[in-house]
Amino acid sequence: MPELPEVEVTRQSFAQRIAGAVVTDVRLGKPLRWPLGVEPTSLRGQVVGDVSRRGKYLWLPLSPRHVNSNAAGQGGVLMHLGMSGSLAFVAQPDAPGAHDHFDLVTDQGTLRLTDPRRFGAVVWSNSQNEGMAAKLLSTLGVEPFDVAFDGAYLHAALQRRRVAVKLALLGGDIVVGAGNIYACEALFTACIDPRTRSDRLSRPRCQRLALAIRNTLQAALALGGSTLRDFRDAHGMAGQFQLSANVYGRVGEPCRVCATKVRRIVQAQRSTFFCPTCQKR
Ligand SMILES: [Zn+2]
Repeated sequence: MPELPEVEVTRQSFAQRIAGAVVTDVRLGKPLRWPLGVEPTSLRGQVVGDVSRRGKYLWLPLSPRHVNSNAAGQGGVLMHLGMSGSLAFVAQPDAPGAHDHFDLVTDQGTLRLTDPRRFGAVVWSNSQNEGMAAKLLSTLGVEPFDVAFDGAYLHAALQRRRVAVKLALLGGDIVVGAGNIYACEALFTACIDPRTRSDRLSRPRCQRLALAIRNTLQAALALGGSTLRDFRDAHGMAGQFQLSANVYGRVGEPCRVCATKVRRIVQAQRSTFFCPTCQKR
């Protein structure tokens, strides 16, 4: 599943090239998670602005170049890669394949969503604060790189829950970006047992956890950034990050710090990996 760092690296891979491009056509494949919500032809002639990211969503602002009775007004499309989606912006795309379900054709190239499982989404909204975009974005927690995300914030938010700390992180409504791999790795770095009840974590431990989440995501971003030139597949980047993981995917292997065998448990149907010696309740 594409996680926040992959989505951000995807954004960086095309944001500058698509800015200022004029939409010449929109092609829809099979239905995605939700309908586009606007007549595709009404996007023709619109100019793409600065692509931004919020959580795992990308926002492509679109604005009319000319006053055209047929055109949609000011707005944009909110995109999500779902479970298996990837986005590529190419000058001369191949004919769409069976898993290519959205093409935004512009005078600078075509932005294509390839999504075999079709949990991805492309939805029109008048702004990020209106309609479907507002609905989808309103439940998101703070950005991990935002100054608002610190130990005090995390401590206060975790105090209000009574679930295992890992599940509180996975919810994404406290902080975005701590998906399964990154939550496991950050909890290892912060020496916190993933089963610890969220409201029992002290303020200093929350401070360490907030820093660990930020640093883990920063490391993943740096890895993605280093491969940006040939960037094609967000999933490949997650695989690369896993190679350097301390616990994720390493069940039975020695902890890199203390050599205890890494354990795997299941929490809410998701695999959790941790070191039973380094990570404490
Ligand atoms: Zn250990």
